[in-house]
Amino acid sequence: MTTLVDTRPSKVMANPGHGDAFTDHMVTAHWTRADGWTVPQLGPLVNLSMHPGMIGLHYAQVVFEGLKAFVQADGSIAAFRPRDNAARFARSAARLAMPEVPASMFLSAVEEVVRADADWLLDNPQHTLYLRPLLYASEAQLMLRASNEYTFLMMAFLAGGFFGDQVDPVSVLVSRDFTRAVPGGTGNVKCAANYGPSLLAQRQAQEAGCQQVVWLDAAEHRFIEEMGGMNLFFVRGSGADARLVTPELTGTLLPGMTRNSLLTIAAREGYAVSEERITVDEWRDQCLSGAITETFACGTAAVVTPVGRVRDRDGDFMIGTGTMGAVTRRLRAALLDVQHGRTADPAGWLHPI
Ligand code: PMP
Repeated sequence: MTTLVDTRPSKVMANPGHGDAFTDHMVTAHWTRADGWTVPQLGPLVNLSMHPGMIGLHYAQVVFEGLKAFVQADGSIAAFRPRDNAARFARSAARLAMPEVPASMFLSAVEEVVRADADWLLDNPQHTLYLRPLLYASEAQLMLRASNEYTFLMMAFLAGGFFGDQVDPVSVLVSRDFTRAVPGGTGNVKCAANYGPSLLAQRQAQEAGCQQVVWLDAAEHRFIEEMGGMNLFFVRGSGADARLVTPELTGTLLPGMTRNSLLTIAAREGYAVSEERITVDEWRDQCLSGAITETFACGTAAVVTPVGRVRDRDGDFMIGTGTMGAVTRRLRAALLDVQHGRTADPAGWLHPI
């Protein structure tokens, strides 16, 4: 008699950090001006070999994306809005004079990595699989010009789940010394060069006892744009009469998938929603008067995260009681319900794997 033993190594992880629990596989493809794209290959996640004079390393001709796959109520796996991420990836590439990864190639790479590393997610159904597509200029050339060679990678890591409805509110520092994006710049695309320069502001926030940075517009330093790598929503009023406002996409904000999803979900939940410019003075005054009752940040990694306290040059102010408000809680749950297939999918956002 033989005994069947499950030899598959268990990948159960209680609490993966964000960005270090890499899975086992990646998809790779190369592009040259002469031949276009190679056929993408699924292989093990391995170190890269690169020329030290690679354009991407020196001149930041690099773009990336971030999206997630979720275990569904029926035990299957689906990616959330991958077509929209493919479209944003293509817009980012075009802005940096790079070739676009065709949407079909992007989607196949998502499917291949998720299938190859499905165990990671199925062993940890309370967590999520974060996919990181990357496109970089791989030609060895130090003349400042667009590369003639590019590499596309699709890798993944296991990310913490966000099932609980207890989320600690974050405190934020309004950045007065630094700007994230300028008119005519790259703020509305996801290029690597947007992120390195944000780290000093992030450090300043931490030194001021805050967890995140709020970015203001570059021209007048008055209008609220984003928070770290997240979009922001403000709630005016409460209960069924609550109205949601998010900064409008002026060209210097990243058009987040989560922001866009929440505009639809909030309307479906019966809230009035609008996209407007809002100043930091309005934010403070309306928090103090009680007109703004809640503020939350949203993004693929952050899902929906309440903001509790704001530090600016004139001092601190609280948002509501500094705890997660009812509207934030409801929208967070509604978004997670869609992402996990527990409720109707409003617009074909789930892509079954
Ligand atoms: N703003 C910035 C600057 C970001 O990097 C991100 C993360 N991609 C977001 C907002 C949120 O976008 P999404 O909802 O697509 O993750």
